[in-house]
Amino acid sequence: MKPVEYFFAKTAAFRAVTGDKKAGKLSHSYLLLCRDEAWARDYLKALAKLIMCEKGGCGECRACKLIDREVYADCEIYPREGEKITAEGIDIIVSEKCYVKPLESSIRVFAVAGAEKMNVPAQNKLLKTLEEPPANVCIILSANGDHSLLPTVKSRVKRLEIPLFPSGEIYSAFEGRFADKEKLKTVCELCDGRPGDVESLYACDAVSTAVGECVSLLVNIKKSRDIAYYSGKLIKKTRDEFAAFISAMRVVVRDALFIQEGMENSVINSAKKEELEEIALKYRQGALLSFAEALKDAAAATEGYANQTMLADKILFTLLEENYRWQKL
Ligand SMILES: [Zn+2]
Repeated sequence: MKPVEYFFAKTAAFRAVTGDKKAGKLSHSYLLLCRDEAWARDYLKALAKLIMCEKGGCGECRACKLIDREVYADCEIYPREGEKITAEGIDIIVSEKCYVKPLESSIRVFAVAGAEKMNVPAQNKLLKTLEEPPANVCIILSANGDHSLLPTVKSRVKRLEIPLFPSGEIYSAFEGRFADKEKLKTVCELCDGRPGDVESLYACDAVSTAVGECVSLLVNIKKSRDIAYYSGKLIKKTRDEFAAFISAMRVVVRDALFIQEGMENSVINSAKKEELEEIALKYRQGALLSFAEALKDAAAATEGYANQTMLADKILFTLLEENYRWQKL
């Protein structure tokens, strides 16, 4: 079983479609909401396998293997890798391909990946088929959110969701596949519930760098005039690097809190134990907790269009101010 199939099988989405299939009541269309961009297409294929494979997505049969390679005659995955969705492309599917009888299977599946990128004309083309679906056709869409989909489209698709997974669950799924367990643990925290990001994060040196950077900042920052220096470094980061820094900082702060609580066994970055102990002594628990809250807000803000300079300044000020305040108490 591929990792993506393992995670898919844990979802309410998987159980819902399995139930629909057993009851002989497959919906004519499903919308799979998935914030795990790296695996969005693979989750969509897992859904196609669940619908089409006689064993409910075994991963081993001819249909499953061909769906995986995107060459199964009765399952079309649109757009092709590297291409874009166009109204013309959708039109060919809905006005021609949907009316071709299935060749091998009892059903034809049309999968549209990245459906949030469909423009209004493309959605309107699709809408006609969603309103009057031909027999034996199932249309499945994946999207990272439904904000850009027309209400008329949303109301005609059965909604499914790929949740964010707890880091512990992600770790146990990948344990044994990667040599460096400590790095894997950090990566499972940094991926924010998206197992699809684990492999690339593990391969990326930025993870170890980000952890080192966070530890050094916490050890060395002292006065408010230091903020300009650290903030200057943070605003030079790309959006992704900044987000990785925030996530790494959350893990490091939690490690320091574990040490303060005497829960050394729960510390993830044990290679940095000495520095973490120094941090646990330098900052009051209340200050670290307030800082953790500020980081949580910053992490949420980095997913939108937040101003990186303001965010960087805000978290650094929070850190120093809170520590000052708690030391006086
Ligand atoms: Zn199969």
